[in-house]
Amino acid sequence: MKKMEIQRRKTKKIYIGSVPIGGDAPLTVQSMTKTRTSDADATISQINDLYQSGCQIVRVGVSDHASAAVLKRIVKASPLPIVADIHFSYRLALAALEAGVHGVRINPGNIGSKENIRKIVQAALARGVPIRIGVNAGSLEKDLLEKYGRPTPEALVESALREVRTLEDLGFYDIEISVKASSVLETVEANRLLASRTEYPLHLGVTEAGSGLAGIIKSAVGIGTLLIEGIGDTIRVSLTGDPVEEVTVAREILKSLGLLKEGINIISCPTCARCQVDLLSIVQEFSERTRDVKSLLDVAIMGCVVNGPGEAREAEMGVALGRTNGLFFQKGEEKGRIPLAKLLDLLVEEVRKADREKQLAETHKT
Ligand code: SF4
Repeated sequence: MKKMEIQRRKTKKIYIGSVPIGGDAPLTVQSMTKTRTSDADATISQINDLYQSGCQIVRVGVSDHASAAVLKRIVKASPLPIVADIHFSYRLALAALEAGVHGVRINPGNIGSKENIRKIVQAALARGVPIRIGVNAGSLEKDLLEKYGRPTPEALVESALREVRTLEDLGFYDIEISVKASSVLETVEANRLLASRTEYPLHLGVTEAGSGLAGIIKSAVGIGTLLIEGIGDTIRVSLTGDPVEEVTVAREILKSLGLLKEGINIISCPTCARCQVDLLSIVQEFSERTRDVKSLLDVAIMGCVVNGPGEAREAEMGVALGRTNGLFFQKGEEKGRIPLAKLLDLLVEEVRKADREKQLAETHKT
């Protein structure tokens, strides 16, 4: 029987560098550097770390001329398309476009006069560079705050659509939109409203989500809820901490919903009194040893031979572990009882074999 799949909302496709967003393009993962952009070496090093972790687009803050001055070097060295994040200064936006960035994030509401916005639009049009309108609850226009009393979902959407109209009036349609709040409920509601009123691709995120477990959960609930409803074309998890963690979490959110077709999806049980092995260590070691696997594979690692075989049989590959040996399953068939000391090596070996076969089949398809 075919697995359930999310029906995604139809949106306009844009490109950030060579990475498509929206339309029939797969969901993408973004992050943002946290170095001083003017420290080009540190910024390039962080971009490389993000690339290694599976990030597909990276945003860098351009808040002063020293940052704009090194952008060209950063763009040249980066393995990822660069989006310049600009507030207040149209001159910095022009300098970023001149430096060759692949996208610009602005909030036209704080860029100043229509003439300044027109200059940015012309430069972006000339280079085929898209613009993200990024509206945050924390920086909403005064008149909308007065109208709605506070940054409600309706206020965020009105702000975003007002900015969209500004760009459209100037003949610019290569647009991506984000509306973010630190409240999960308001972020979800704002994006639902926005999705019902525009066909431009949406960048999802819960802003200022915090750190650690709380931040991860807020992001997973907010972004996950919208993705399940088919809303969203690219995501950024915002966490206080290492941006690589943002990418790891974002990828896991996509993987949990079948929206990222690569990497191992480990199915392991919570353990209970029936478990006679150190399942956590086994799962951690397996995860470490297969981190570089490219193909999407469901692998079950279950803590007993009583209830474990059911899940292990359902997965592409699986083991149900007893005290001294375990049952090994492949594509629903039991392949035998293997001594515990050899089982992990066998599982890793078979996963690598399946990965090679899938990668080869992919190469033949293209
Ligand atoms: S699979 Fe076995 S060990 Fe794991 S939770 Fe279920 S009964 Fe307990």
